[in-house]
Amino acid sequence: KRATPAKTTAAKGETPVVSSGCEPCDSLKDAFERQLRYDLTRDDQSESGMFHALAIAVKEQLLDNWRDTRKADIEQQKKHVSYLSLEFLMGRALGNALLNMDMTDECRTVLNNYAVSLEALEQQEHDAGLGNGGLGRLAACFLDSCATLDLAVTGYGIRYEYGMFLQKIVDGYQVEQPDRWLRDGNPWEVRVPQHNVTVKFFGHTHSYVDATGRRHMLWSDTQDVAAVAYDMPVPGYRNGRVNTLRLWKAEATNEFDLAEFNQGDYTEAVAAKNLAEQITMVLYPNDSSENGKELRLRQQYFLSSASLQDLLRNWVLNHGMDFSKFAELNAIQLNDTHPAIAVPELMRLLVDVYEMDWEPSWAIVSKCMAYTNHTLLPEALERWPVRMFKHMLPRIMEIIYEINARYLDEVAHRWPGNTSKLRDMSIIEEGPDPHVRMAYLAIVASFSVNGVAALHTELLMSGLFRDFYELWPHKFNNRTNGVTPRRWLAYCNPKLSALISSKLGDGWVTDLTKLEGLKKLADNKTFADAWYQVKQENKAALAELVAQRCHVQFDTSMLFDVQVKRIHEYKRQLLNVLHVIHLYQRIINGDTQGMQPRCVLIGGKAAPGYAIAKLIIKLANNVAHMINCDPKVNKWLRFAFLPDYNVSAMEVICPGTDLSEQISTAGKEASGTGNMKFMMNGAMTIGTLDGANIEMLEQVGDENFFLFGLNAKQVDELRRHYRPWEYIAASEALSGVMSLLKSGHFNLQEPGIFDPLMMAIESPTDPWMLAADFEAFRIAQLDAANAYQDRQRWTAMSIRNTAASGRFSSDFTIAGYRDNIWNA
Ligand code: PLP
Repeated sequence: KRATPAKTTAAKGETPVVSSGCEPCDSLKDAFERQLRYDLTRDDQSESGMFHALAIAVKEQLLDNWRDTRKADIEQQKKHVSYLSLEFLMGRALGNALLNMDMTDECRTVLNNYAVSLEALEQQEHDAGLGNGGLGRLAACFLDSCATLDLAVTGYGIRYEYGMFLQKIVDGYQVEQPDRWLRDGNPWEVRVPQHNVTVKFFGHTHSYVDATGRRHMLWSDTQDVAAVAYDMPVPGYRNGRVNTLRLWKAEATNEFDLAEFNQGDYTEAVAAKNLAEQITMVLYPNDSSENGKELRLRQQYFLSSASLQDLLRNWVLNHGMDFSKFAELNAIQLNDTHPAIAVPELMRLLVDVYEMDWEPSWAIVSKCMAYTNHTLLPEALERWPVRMFKHMLPRIMEIIYEINARYLDEVAHRWPGNTSKLRDMSIIEEGPDPHVRMAYLAIVASFSVNGVAALHTELLMSGLFRDFYELWPHKFNNRTNGVTPRRWLAYCNPKLSALISSKLGDGWVTDLTKLEGLKKLADNKTFADAWYQVKQENKAALAELVAQRCHVQFDTSMLFDVQVKRIHEYKRQLLNVLHVIHLYQRIINGDTQGMQPRCVLIGGKAAPGYAIAKLIIKLANNVAHMINCDPKVNKWLRFAFLPDYNVSAMEVICPGTDLSEQISTAGKEASGTGNMKFMMNGAMTIGTLDGANIEMLEQVGDENFFLFGLNAKQVDELRRHYRPWEYIAASEALSGVMSLLKSGHFNLQEPGIFDPLMMAIESPTDPWMLAADFEAFRIAQLDAANAYQDRQRWTAMSIRNTAASGRFSSDFTIAGYRDNIWNA
């Protein structure tokens, strides 16, 4: 037996979190063996059983530090940040926890006594797919960076019973299947029933005035739901800190409604229980588009109310009813508008429950709340019908009206007599069916409003939120997204990491700017050869994944050209497919002189109700089938659609990619984070001037980036007089592709199915402007192919991309939140 491996190596100037030094607990080996021996519920011979035993043993190693972190944060009165997010796309936890705790070697030694590898056990872990894409994965990266930067941050989210759906491909079509990720239990979570809170829905409000003349609001006859806390540990990188991700599960407040039960209505009573538990049953699978369903609003309120009640209860426990320092010691970050209902909920709790006056309560709310916007797409901006609000959350609606009335006074002062301004800026969108504009609610209450890349923030200030920027310029700021270098380089690419560390030491893991030291090695032949070798090995691992999942053989001597992300028209997977069809035509026509053989991979999920996105998947699969079956073609070109793209797939994909496609219509992608993961792992980017691509290009230089296409301003201007047919006629390549598509070549058995895609491309209202960018894309692809043929040049470019990626560590992003928003 020995003490927990409490690391006390906090960064300079920061207070180390010291282990309590109480009773030593089992070593990893002892804990693992105990689990294997005594957990009778599992077959300890199976890899799945061994994974569970190992994960629980690893979690046990974290417990002392977890408890001590909480204690120290309270004692030291650290500023606390609550990160509210409907999504946390965590992926697997085992490998990352071992890396951060510096226990990977120890774990391998333990497993040496068993005929099983650590890698095999890691494969047994289900991805925690509690998110759609970029927004949810960002939240996960942020948690890692916050813990590593020794910040007291709690992630608050929902413990969905069913995470992001599993994607199967049947006859080329996407088929969704439920993700029962909790089926075998979740070894990382700790259920903490002592932190339960109650969340109210429906009912009525009324008021009364007490003897002192104070008016009180009552919200009664409500349907109550219990929020039960499940905590997951978030270990920092080798610093002893363990933060918490607290996920709420909805449960019925009373197992059975006794009144109904006594009247013999047993089934009604049980039905009520189901209704309550529905709230946290399923993640809405729409990325960048509104969910609009009543149950979704219930989820939003459930998360916000439970988290804020938890926060206030802790506050009162430690500070009593004195809220004077609350805003100084708390920040609440809203990850998009999904949890924006936290604004009126915090007001309700302070005014109705803790009986504070409106003004001091508002002062607290408006000093704590900060809002991150994630999209410019109008279809993603959340608006909820007032009637739905009134019915489901009557007290909350009253508070929103009050917030709006007071805020519109300020607008009226700023623009006297300007009624259209009042109408345009009101939190309530008037009309026959009035709606609550959640983004406006968030902006009005927040002291900080940030975009997630420089261009995105500029477009928010000059477009979507222009009026608000005029009113409160000081609120607006940019925090370009980032990704954690622990998971996305150190863990997912051990070979490249070892090579980098052999030259630079391992300080880059917590200070990614140190990667700049690679620049001077870009032309060093020995180093470049080693770099190339690592890339080839990572390509082999990716090829294996593709073979397993798609039954397509990728050849590592070919260029690996990859686009993985949610399937969305603005991300333009269709442009990618058009280019693949063009290459196919060249090969069929014998135009292969000097052609660089390539393997193209597309992966991603379409929202189940998004017909066009699903059709793009079908087209990709049909084109892939045609290409891969033709021996004349497949020596030049191979094409696969990877089913069920998720975090653990990305951990294999980004290290093995040569060319990363980031080809969204300029002005549409808020930031992108996939782009950063590829860059960090030495892929070149072919991309538009959109989102964080622009900043990546600035860092790496245009000689190391394949830039193409219209910029955001040009897209905007062209919109007024867009004639796609002119672009098609002017491009021999694109006309060829369109004719082949129209001939039905790829859908002989299913005539007409791709017509909607062709109509979209040829429409003068095509917002994504595929035809306008096709030629530029084709030429940039040609440049990339030519560059790849010069191995020395390509490898040097690859090294320079990794070297320039330091700026896209989420540590840098979080340091920006810490210093400029949270003041933590
Ligand atoms: N989904 C997963 C599993 C990811 O890892 C990422 C980011 O790398 C995303 C979605 C977001 O990708 P993008 O920024 O390309 O949309």
